[in-house]
Amino acid sequence: MTKWVYRFGGGEAEGRSADVERLGGKGANLAEMASLGLPVPPGLTIVAEACAFYFDNDKALPEELKAQVLEGIAAMEELTGRTFGGHPKPLLLSIRSGARASMPGMMDTVLNLGLNDETVQALGHDAGDARFAWDSYRRFIQMYADVVMGLDHEVFEEILEDEKARFGHEYDTDLSAVEWQHVVGIYKQMIEEELGESFPQDPHVQLWGAIAAVFSSWMNPRAKTYRTLHRIPEEWGTAVNVQAMVFGNLGSSSATGVAFTRNPSTGERALYGEFLVNAQGEDVVAGIRTPQSITEEGRLASGSEKPSMEKLMPEAFAEFKEICGRLEAHYRDMQDLEFTVERGKLWMLQTRSGKRTTRAAMKIAVDMVAEGLITEEEAVCRIEPPSLDQLLHPTIDPRVERHVIGSGLPASPGAATGEVVFTAEEAVQAEAEGRKVILVRIETSPEDIHGMHAAEGILTTRGGMTSHAAVVARGMGIPCVVGAGSMRVDMRNEVLIGVAGMTLKRGDTITIDGSSGQVLEGAVPMIQPELSGDFGKLMAWADKCRRMTVRTNADTPQDARAARSFGAEGIGLCRTEHMFFEGDRIQVMREMILAEDEGGRRAALAKLLPMQRSDFVELFSIMHGLPVTIRLLDPPLHEFLPKTEAEIADVAKAMGMSPAFLARRIDAIHEFNPMLGHRGCRLAISYPEIAEMQARAIFEAAVEAAKVTGEPVELEIMVPLVSLRTELDYVKDVIDRVAEDVAKESGTPIHYLVGTMIELPRAAIRAHVIAETAEFFSFGTNDLTQTTFGISRDDAAAFIPTYQRKGIIEHDPFISLDFDGVGELIRLAAERGRKARNDLKLGICGEHGGDPASIHFCEDSGLDYVSCSPFRVPIARLAAAQAAIGKRTGDPL
Ligand code: PEP
Ligand code: MG
Repeated sequence: MTKWVYRFGGGEAEGRSADVERLGGKGANLAEMASLGLPVPPGLTIVAEACAFYFDNDKALPEELKAQVLEGIAAMEELTGRTFGGHPKPLLLSIRSGARASMPGMMDTVLNLGLNDETVQALGHDAGDARFAWDSYRRFIQMYADVVMGLDHEVFEEILEDEKARFGHEYDTDLSAVEWQHVVGIYKQMIEEELGESFPQDPHVQLWGAIAAVFSSWMNPRAKTYRTLHRIPEEWGTAVNVQAMVFGNLGSSSATGVAFTRNPSTGERALYGEFLVNAQGEDVVAGIRTPQSITEEGRLASGSEKPSMEKLMPEAFAEFKEICGRLEAHYRDMQDLEFTVERGKLWMLQTRSGKRTTRAAMKIAVDMVAEGLITEEEAVCRIEPPSLDQLLHPTIDPRVERHVIGSGLPASPGAATGEVVFTAEEAVQAEAEGRKVILVRIETSPEDIHGMHAAEGILTTRGGMTSHAAVVARGMGIPCVVGAGSMRVDMRNEVLIGVAGMTLKRGDTITIDGSSGQVLEGAVPMIQPELSGDFGKLMAWADKCRRMTVRTNADTPQDARAARSFGAEGIGLCRTEHMFFEGDRIQVMREMILAEDEGGRRAALAKLLPMQRSDFVELFSIMHGLPVTIRLLDPPLHEFLPKTEAEIADVAKAMGMSPAFLARRIDAIHEFNPMLGHRGCRLAISYPEIAEMQARAIFEAAVEAAKVTGEPVELEIMVPLVSLRTELDYVKDVIDRVAEDVAKESGTPIHYLVGTMIELPRAAIRAHVIAETAEFFSFGTNDLTQTTFGISRDDAAAFIPTYQRKGIIEHDPFISLDFDGVGELIRLAAERGRKARNDLKLGICGEHGGDPASIHFCEDSGLDYVSCSPFRVPIARLAAAQAAIGKRTGDPL
């Protein structure tokens, strides 16, 4: 018999937190909490495999499962002394999703299940509060009709607003039992009218309807989008948790709240949370009422008048605080908790590893090492490499005057500037047009996820630090300000009204400061972040753990300096062609390309030589003795030539030739497929004088830079697009000859290596032969991906997203290495190359050198270094460390 259901409650549980794959995050942690003896309402978890069964069997559930659920409910009845669908103490249930990875707000939930026209009376008697019972019933109808029956919850909100107005009430809390009963009647009538069926009265019908709906919500569009964005596999499915309800809305001694054991924004070691008195859980996360702080310290810091839980419910607070400490020590990580206080009694509803900003993650990891909770290696593995990007966000220059037009809570750090837009669709559209926007909403909901992703920053006028906008923005690393109560969004007129009535229209520019909560008018000067403190400590630990070195792809002094400040240990790729585009160099380059014979070319090259040399001197000086790989000219020459008629006319004039003549020359070097044409080492073979000039510039610069810095340059000259050993031999001869000349002229011996890019399948296959000449290999995985797949790297965007959507491929192979194909060629080349030359240096310099998954592959394949763009250097350092730890401990991350 398959075990579909795991029970928990009464100090026991059938599952454990390690069973997360089957029980989902929520179920596994509920089981763990129950087994730790914490106060958890009893319940059961239906395993995630049932989700796959459900979709594979035309949305049916196995009979065995049904029986197991009913047995579980019988156990819950016993533990609570209540009866599901019965009298005098009805048992109400919550039905919640719970996937392996947290997907906040993406799937559906049904609360208060089991209420009907009879049990509502029993609940009222039992609680001694008819108002509460009818309020719960109307909440249940609203939620169930929305989630299970497919009626938009806004219709119910409209009815409620109308009825409130009719009764002369402002707040939901003003409605009496009789008035709620009246609202329930209207709700039920509306359902009949809209759907032609009545609201189900049988609690078992309700139960199976809700379970099916929660499974179905695994495939709703927003859940699918979330999975794509977070790379969560569809086949995982969701588990479903069925749990006895406890009530935070049973009067003033009841409450519901959420908390983090440390501050999720800063990482500070202080309990941090929000609660609402006399409310149900959804009210807190929905951001409809602005919640109160649970601690006095938090209340004082926010300047709120509303009392803290610490003051209001000292006993429940003390117990909660003690549990927080226990759970944090047990899981050895910061926890995100949900709780309810029902008439003074504390119940724990959830614990999980808390989402946090990268800054907070750094601080928490570093602090936990100091507290002896985790090791340095564990700390290194606690940070997701791509999230370091958040730390590289600019912040507002503190020296500038701020024109503050509003302020709210600092929900996600970093500053962002953009045009105001009011809908997610506008944000997506703007991003497609290359415009930067701030998404301004009263509050956000999971439907806005696309727009939130497309925006530079998010501003809401409602909600707290745990509102949807705050949680999602932090996860995405997007600056965010929430609950800006001093501002107002007028959706009808599409304006944002700030302090002193200042009005901003769609398209006006604002800046938000997600670290202070301020909203500023216009664009504001920004500064780059300081990468020291916790960041410095953690990166130093990472550096101790890693085996591969991390270099950068840089061809300008500015990039090289930035990369050094991020910890690059050399240059793995200097694309020299980028140096020819600047200022008046392009003109000389054109002279060289358009020259009719070698003499003409040499004359132009002589003008380029000092320019190249001075560039190299600067790069070598910045790198101060670290290895620098300079690649000879790679792209086809026509890339440097004018394209439009007007450009051709301009250039012809500057060069003293007729536009017609110039057009003919351009025509003569036109290629049908330049990516596979006259480029790379083929240029150096056709026009060795170009390689000669470049080699001379490199060697002369090396001699000069060594004098300036006192450190000899660790020089590597790289030949691109080689597929035959004879190609490399030819170009190496040219390089060696120039080296000899420069050494003689300068009287300085020159040390250098000559190597090649491995970026063509033939080169990978013939690596053992090429390695007889090459002293190093650098895998050019951009071209290697292009040529292995036969997909043009410039045209791939037209169909790769369709491939991903249709499940033909999972990842874009130009972003994350195709391990099976391109990866196989890399392994083969590394192995064959090293066989021929055992000290062959191996690196990677394609875009994949900054992609964490690809970096793991490089570690596994025994490469010596990865090279990536400057801003990805910290990401690569951390990923390389995690890869090395994973390999050592046999725990691939
Ligand atoms: C490559 O092909 O991976 C590479 C690094 O070279 P480029 O992108 O300049 O072609
Ligand atoms: Mg290339």
